[in-house]
Amino acid sequence: MADEVDVVVIGLGPGGEDAAGRLAEAGLSVVGVESRLVGGECPYYACVPTKMMVRAAGLVAEAERVPGMAGEASVRPDWGPVAARIRDEATDSWDDKAAADRLTGKGVRLVRGEGRITAPREVTAGGQVFHARRGIVLNTGTSPTAPPVDGLADTPYWTNREAVQAPEAPESLLVLGGGVVGVEMAQVFSRFGSRVTIVEAADRLLINDEPESSALLREVFEREGIGVRTGVNVSRVAHDGAEFTMRLGDGELAADRLLVATGRRPNLKGLGLGAVGLDENARRIAVDGRMRAADGVWAIGDITGMGAFTHVSMYQAAVAVRDVLGEEGPPAAYRAVPRVTFTDPEIASVGLTEAQARDQNLPVRTAVAPIPESTRGWIHKAGNDGFIKLVEDTEWGTLVGATAAGPSGGEVLGFLAVAVHTETPTAALREMIYAYPTFHRAVESALAGLAARARGE
Ligand SMILES: Cc1cc2nc3c(=O)[nH]c(=O)nc-3n(C[C@H](O)[C@H](O)[C@H](O)COP(=O)(O)OP(=O)(O)OC[C@H]3O[C@@H](n4cnc5c(N)ncnc54)[C@H](O)[C@@H]3O)c2cc1C
Repeated sequence: MADEVDVVVIGLGPGGEDAAGRLAEAGLSVVGVESRLVGGECPYYACVPTKMMVRAAGLVAEAERVPGMAGEASVRPDWGPVAARIRDEATDSWDDKAAADRLTGKGVRLVRGEGRITAPREVTAGGQVFHARRGIVLNTGTSPTAPPVDGLADTPYWTNREAVQAPEAPESLLVLGGGVVGVEMAQVFSRFGSRVTIVEAADRLLINDEPESSALLREVFEREGIGVRTGVNVSRVAHDGAEFTMRLGDGELAADRLLVATGRRPNLKGLGLGAVGLDENARRIAVDGRMRAADGVWAIGDITGMGAFTHVSMYQAAVAVRDVLGEEGPPAAYRAVPRVTFTDPEIASVGLTEAQARDQNLPVRTAVAPIPESTRGWIHKAGNDGFIKLVEDTEWGTLVGATAAGPSGGEVLGFLAVAVHTETPTAALREMIYAYPTFHRAVESALAGLAARARGE
C-alpha cells in the first residue's frame, strides 16, 4: 500500500532542500528523498569549500603583494597546510546530519536512498512507495564526468570532490578543463604552492565568457606562473603509481595529480522519467515558466539546463513552490542570470555576451573600461587587473549584458544585474552619481564609452 502524501521531492540539492522545507512549512505533507548528502553538491564539494579555498588562496596572494607594493621581492612560504586547515573549517561546520535535522524540524519526512518514479504521482524510495497527491519535484543535480580519453578512466584522477578534500597541495597538478571549476582550482592550488598547468581543448579559457575575460585570465595566470595550454587535444592519460602523464599532440606533460574538470552529467538515469512520459535519455529536463515538466512533475536546478548555479536552483525552487501551492506569480525569467568565476580577478557577468547578443540579431553596441585606468584601480595597484564591459541594445537603449572583471567583480556585478534585470535605460544609468573612488565607478567610464560610440567617436 502506498503512503499518501502531498509532495515528494527527489534529490535534496540547494533547490530541493529549500522547496521541501517551504512546502512543509506551508502545511503540506512532504517527503524528501536523498541518496547522498542533504544540501547536494554545493555545501560539501562545490560552492562553499571551493570558495573557502579561494578565500585562503586570496589571503596568501594579498600577503605576497605586501612586499610587492613596497617595491621588494615577494617571499613564498609553504602555505599548503595553512590553506587546508582553513578549508577544513568550512567542511567541518557543514554537516549532513545538521542539514537533515533542520529539514525534519520544518516537518519534512526524510527518506534516505535513491528515489524513482514508478507511476504518475508515485515514487518508490527506501523500500517504500509514496503516492504524491499534488506531485513530484525533481532536483537530482549532476555528477562529475570525464571525457573518453584513452587510459584516463583507469587512473586515480581527481574530480572536484577529491580536490576539495586534498590534505595538502601536490607538488604539481595538471588541470584538464579551463572552465569555471578548472580555472578556480588551478589558481587556488598554484597559490598554495603547486606547479599547475591547465589543458583546455577550446582555443581559450572560459569559453562561455567574453573573449576579453579569457585573455585577461590567461595573462594573469601566466604572470603568476600557471601554465595555460589551449586548443590542445589530449590523446592519452596514464598513471604509473606515482605520476600522471598526459600525451598531447605536441608532446607530453607530467604531474603528481590530475584534476578533471571538463563538465558534469545530469543524474537522470534510473529516475523513471519514462513513467511520466519524459525522455529517459535526455540531457536535461525541459520545463515551462512554472517549472512544470509533465503533469504533476516539477523540475529544478542543474537538470533543467537553465544555468548550473546554486542561485538558479534556489530561484527555480521558489517558482515551483508557488505553483505547487497554487499561488500566482511571475513565470521564471532568465534574462539576467548572474555568473561569477571566483578567480582573482573575479570574472562576473550577467545576461548576454556580445557574441550571444549578435547571434540573436540584436543591434549591439559595446564599450570596455579598464580597471587599472580608474582611480580606484590606480590606488589599488597590485592585483588591479580587470575591466567593465557593457553590451547595449541600441534599439531600446538598455543593457542586455555586462561583465565586471576585477577585484570584487562579483560585488560590482550586483548593480549591473539590476540594470539588466529591470531594463534600466543607459541614459538613466549615466545620470546616476557613482561613489568616488570605487571599482564600480568604472561603469560610468564604460557608459561614457557607449555614448561616445553612439556619437560615432
Ligand atoms: C567545484 C564546483 C564549484 C561550484 N561553485 C559554485 C558557486 O560558487 N556558485 C554557484 O552558484 N554554483 C556553483 N557550483 C554549481 C552548484 O554546485 C550547483 O549548481 C548546485 O549544487 C545546484 O545543483 P542542484 O540543485 O541541481 O543539485 P545538486 O547540488 O547537484 O544536488 C542534487 C542532489 O540530488 C541527489 N540525488 C540524485 N539523484 C537522486 C535520486 N534518484 N534519489 C535521491 N537523491 C538523488 C544527489 O545525491 C544530490 O545530493 C559549483 C559546482 C562545482 C562542481
